[in-house]
Amino acid sequence: MRNTMDCVIIGCGPAGVSAALYVARANLKVTVIGGDESALMKAEKIENYYGLQESLMGKTLFEAGLRQLERLGVERIRDDVVDITWENAFTLTCAGGEEIDAASVIFCTGAKRMRASIENLQAFEGRGVSYCAICDAFFYRNKAVAVLGSGAYALHEAMALLPVAESVTLLTNGQPLAASYPETIKIIDKPIHALQGDDKLTSVCFADGDKLAAAGLFVAIGTAGASDLARKLGVEVRGSDIVTNENMETMLPGLFAAGDCTGGILQVSTAVAEGAKAGMSAVRFLRSRT
Ligand SMILES: Cc1cc2nc3c(=O)[nH]c(=O)nc-3n(C[C@H](O)[C@H](O)[C@H](O)COP(=O)(O)OP(=O)(O)OC[C@H]3O[C@@H](n4cnc5c(N)ncnc54)[C@H](O)[C@@H]3O)c2cc1C
Repeated sequence: MRNTMDCVIIGCGPAGVSAALYVARANLKVTVIGGDESALMKAEKIENYYGLQESLMGKTLFEAGLRQLERLGVERIRDDVVDITWENAFTLTCAGGEEIDAASVIFCTGAKRMRASIENLQAFEGRGVSYCAICDAFFYRNKAVAVLGSGAYALHEAMALLPVAESVTLLTNGQPLAASYPETIKIIDKPIHALQGDDKLTSVCFADGDKLAAAGLFVAIGTAGASDLARKLGVEVRGSDIVTNENMETMLPGLFAAGDCTGGILQVSTAVAEGAKAGMSAVRFLRSRT
């Protein structure tokens, strides 16, 4: 049987842990899904946070957050969310295949730092370049499409396209493969130079001059960021930032976002403050339903 939670928090950096503290202490069922890919892991020294008597390595602060979750009895699933849907409640799918239902979700996925620098990528958004296979696969039925990425998230998007498209090619853009792909998906690992087309995308040009004909390119680089997941739900995104109001509520009731994924000042202090607000808003939302 599938797990059903009051609240699932995606991300276990400062925003995710802070949000979880408020939801767990309200005696609600909360799970945190997240890996170790926090921006804190790259921060050599943190000095500008309240109460620090001496500077701390970012990794030390991240690990302290995980211990705090453990002490509160909050389960952490160490996996990546690759898909999310909403139909009266949220259903999240993890890269490992686990599915979890939740009445509310808080995005705390940090800022997406992996971007592809490919000429015309943005210019073809909505005209061949898509960020959601489930949403847009139908428009590419019986057409040749490509997926940009190399890991579990790209695999998930490619598998959603496979039954609908004429062919699916994975383009790793020079990155090593980080998941195993079925033979029905062709893999090209050459660096990409540009996208070409007129009104709509027609081909992908590689750095060595080769071309691949493609009517669609589905971007699924690295881990699904909050903006990728938000697009699947039709929630407003500005650039790669999730749009929320001052209570960290998105336009979809029950969906909240906090920390670096909302843009603004990318600091531990803001992530913690927004996480607390999002946690309290989720509690308010959950209590208002009963
Ligand atoms: C080099 C560097 C130095 C910095 N120095 C400072 C400093 O001195 N002071 C300061 O205040 N701030 C500093 N920062 C910024 C600070 O680290 C961030 O603002 C803070 O970590 C943001 O917290 P967050 O919880 O929003 O996101 P993050 O800490 O980035 O956490 C994101 C979490 O989401 C998870 N995740 C992402 N996608 C998925 C998915 N699809 N499924 C499941 N989980 C997912 C990740 O694994 C991770 O657990 C620094 C950042 C960097 C990069």
